[in-house]
Amino acid sequence: MGVIVVTGIPGVGKTTVMQKAAEGMDIQFVTFGTVMIDIAKELGLVKDRDEMRKLTLDQQKQLQIKTAEKVGKMKNVILDTHCTVKTPKGYMPGLPEWVLRKLNPTAIIIVEADPQEIFNRRAKDTTRNRDPDSVEKIAEHQMMNRAVAMSYATLTGATVKIVFNHDNALDAAVKEAEPVIR
Ligand code: AMP
Ligand code: MG
Repeated sequence: MGVIVVTGIPGVGKTTVMQKAAEGMDIQFVTFGTVMIDIAKELGLVKDRDEMRKLTLDQQKQLQIKTAEKVGKMKNVILDTHCTVKTPKGYMPGLPEWVLRKLNPTAIIIVEADPQEIFNRRAKDTTRNRDPDSVEKIAEHQMMNRAVAMSYATLTGATVKIVFNHDNALDAAVKEAEPVIR
């Protein structure tokens, strides 16, 4: 297995779903944002992960490519990342062509939930500095992610699977994700 990309907008629960789906597997779990913030901290650019999407686009792109170079060398990876990153200038592609070429994913999983469910989850999460998006904006963000995921697929041949992580239905989400990684 090469790289399997797992995406989903902040607060959808992609980390929870994927960690459970990969339980017991000989697989490396890598969070793109964690590798990226380590590099950003070394460069003295940010203190917390939610500051990164507010950096200039050039800075974000530089960090993104450095991160992709590092992750691209790893084997048997489930990569937790984003189809798009919401910046003040608009949706930035999380996997532009030059990043995709380094990662070469075989599958892309999109974890989704109802916009209202995500809105409620974000409101409860005090550990992060989530954006205060409306329900409509959350729906828009998920729509943009679906669209861009298929364009990533046309560049790589990766499959795209949408996995719903509804409230109190974690097991169903895990079941949907499993065939992609096993
Ligand atoms: P997360 O912990 O998944 O919410 O990611 C933290 C932060 O890492 C995001 O808010 C982005 O600033 C950054 N990040 C994660 N994945 C990417 C990516 N593929 N491209 C650019 N930035 C990313
Ligand atoms: Mg996460």
